[in-house]
Amino acid sequence: MTTARRIDGKVMAAELSAKITRETAALLREHALVPGLAVVIVGEDPASQVYVRNKKRTAEACGFHSVQHTLATNSTQETVLALIDELNNDDSIHGILVQLPLPAHLDEQQVTQAVVPGKDVDGFHFINIGKLTSGNTSDAFVPCTPAGCMLMIEAELGANLSGYNAVVIGRSNIVGKPMASLLLQANATVTVTHSRTADLPGVVRTADIVVAAVGRANIVSGDWIKPGAVVIDVGINRIDVSVDGETRSRLTGDIDYDSVCKVAAAATPVPGGVGPMTIVMLMANTLRAARLASGLGAD
Ligand code: NAD
Repeated sequence: MTTARRIDGKVMAAELSAKITRETAALLREHALVPGLAVVIVGEDPASQVYVRNKKRTAEACGFHSVQHTLATNSTQETVLALIDELNNDDSIHGILVQLPLPAHLDEQQVTQAVVPGKDVDGFHFINIGKLTSGNTSDAFVPCTPAGCMLMIEAELGANLSGYNAVVIGRSNIVGKPMASLLLQANATVTVTHSRTADLPGVVRTADIVVAAVGRANIVSGDWIKPGAVVIDVGINRIDVSVDGETRSRLTGDIDYDSVCKVAAAATPVPGGVGPMTIVMLMANTLRAARLASGLGAD
């Protein structure tokens, strides 16, 4: 019986964060430049508030100028767009992140497309999506979660994935589709699966690399996994578990970690896998945005 290597997202994220902090200090020293990140949150969704707090804290720890704009739940589309416009024109801000989901009465697409592509550190603008899918990533912003997954895959298998079969489970614009583009760009042979895929376990069994981004607790079990595969778990699911007769809430991923680890070569845990990498990739994108806006080159 094998036991998969645990891909530790916390350790990787801490190393990357330390590198970003060093580079930020050098930017200040050599160019009097401080990367600025603005986070916009509309409403009081508790999960979103936690995410936004973490992003602000990490930005400050990296030495960034960090601002948070909290708008009332009933804010109009015009109010949100006016704020984005103001941030688009603020030279101290290099990255703008609008925390999703927005309240239902707001047009999410119009808001995300209002952020100028050069400050779109989430990589949701059509210009950045187009650059990624066409392989023109030198000045593009790649969505943070798949970018973080890619670093974890590269750490296991190297940057050139020629000859590897990759199966992405999930086809969202935020994770599944950009993940597939990144894997393809790294020369993997990529299959994108989703809720309408026939024989999902059979397709996943062909994969040397599995990225699960579904949002269903423990859907991927060990008997879906090809021996020696690298398995990346993007899913974040809250489930109830019974501890000493008491019901407790616990976070779990899309992979059944214990059974997958008996077959895979390496796998990411939840929590402590993709999540910490996502936040630090936002910082990497913001640093990159500051450099590009100041004519210093991407890195
Ligand atoms: P989404 O709901 O937009 O997309 C889910 C995808 O899964 C869809 O394409 C759907 O077709 C597919 N799917 C649903 N049921 C399926 C099934 N039974 N079999 C196969 N495919 C199925 O979700 P998303 O935004 O891509 O997020 C996916 C998960 O990743 C969620 O749990 C989310 O919370 C998590 N997430 C985590 C991070 C992070 O930083 N760790 C970031 C983004 C999303």
